[in-house]
This record gives sequence, structure tokens and C-alpha cells, in this order.
Amino acid sequence: KSGFVTIVGRPNVGKSTLMNQIIGEKIAIMSDKPQTTRNKIQSVYTENDFQIVFIDTPGIHKPKHKLGEYMVRAAKDTLGEVDAILFVVDESPSIGPGDEFIMEVLKDVRTPIILVMNKIDKIDQEKFNALYSLYKDKELFSDIVGISALEGANLQVLIDKIIDFL
Ligand code: GDP
Ligand code: MG
Repeated sequence: KSGFVTIVGRPNVGKSTLMNQIIGEKIAIMSDKPQTTRNKIQSVYTENDFQIVFIDTPGIHKPKHKLGEYMVRAAKDTLGEVDAILFVVDESPSIGPGDEFIMEVLKDVRTPIILVMNKIDKIDQEKFNALYSLYKDKELFSDIVGISALEGANLQVLIDKIIDFL
């Protein structure tokens, strides 16, 4: 099994930390060779029987000008070509405008989306439950998982969920 996954989310939610933890735990091939003109291989996670390629996308930000609109379109095209999308949010107790905008973009994309609630090490069970209920009824997401990228908590659960979509 193998497939392509892309990680999206507003700045500072922990996308790079997540990527580094997944790649760092089980040593994998790092590559920055361009694969296609649009997609850039960020890194490849390999185990005996599967391989997950994490792909960079242009950041999704609310366009302030025409070039921004082009970036959003390019991101949508890339997102449509992968096997799964990880949409990363942090422990903030509400859905802010940055997250709302990304969710608007994701509505037009047919790829399965896993909502990754990161930084759960910062909140207690009660706050986790409140956060979970914010997202659980949204049809946008095929799956939801809480993790701590920093502490490496629940990463195997996340990987297993990704494998389901490959
Ligand atoms: P990115 O902008 O989405 O790539 O976010 P980064 O990976 O650069 O992380 C932003 C900040 O959040 C850094 O200071 C990380 O150490 C911190 N961070 C990332 N993941 C976690 C986590 O699971 N728990 C905590 N407490 N901090 C985290
Ligand atoms: Mg980053």
C-alpha cells in the first residue's frame, strides 16, 4: 500500500512538528526532489508494507489580491490529487477565521479529510470533549483524531487512520 497525504492548517498549529515526529520516529527517506511541477515531495514514511508520501501545498490563506486567489486554486488542485488530507487544528476552544477559511476551501475538495486535533497535551479531558463536539458533526471530516505532535501521543492511531484511505 502506498499513497499521498497532505497536511494543511493555519500557521503554528504544529504541522511541521507533526511531520518531523512521523518521519523522525521511524527513519524514512527524506527528499526534496520535485516530483511534478505542482507537487513537491516533502518526505516519505515507510514501513514494511506501506509507504506514505507527505506533500507540500501552497499555504491556504484568505486571498488579499489576485495572486492569492491563484494560490488558493493551486492548493485546491493539489488537494484534489492526494489520497487523504490532514487538517490540523490546535487546542483553541473555538473555530477562528483562519480555520473557517480553510474549511471553506476544503468544502470543494473530494479527498477524504482527517481532522487532527493537535496539542492535546495542553488541555484536560473536559476541554478535549468540548473541542471534539465542535467538530464531530461536521460532514467535512471522514475521521477525527486527537494527538500531541510534540509528545508523539496517538501518532500510531493517526497513521492507522491514514492507511485506511490509501
Ligand atoms: P506549523 O506552523 O503549523 O508548522 O507549526 P510548528 O510545527 O512550527 O509548531 C508551532 C509551535 O507549536 C512550536 O512552538 C511547537 O513546538 C508547538 N507545538 C507543536 N505541536 C505541539 C503539541 O503537540 N503540543 C504542544 N504543547 N506544542 C506543540
Ligand atoms: Mg511549519
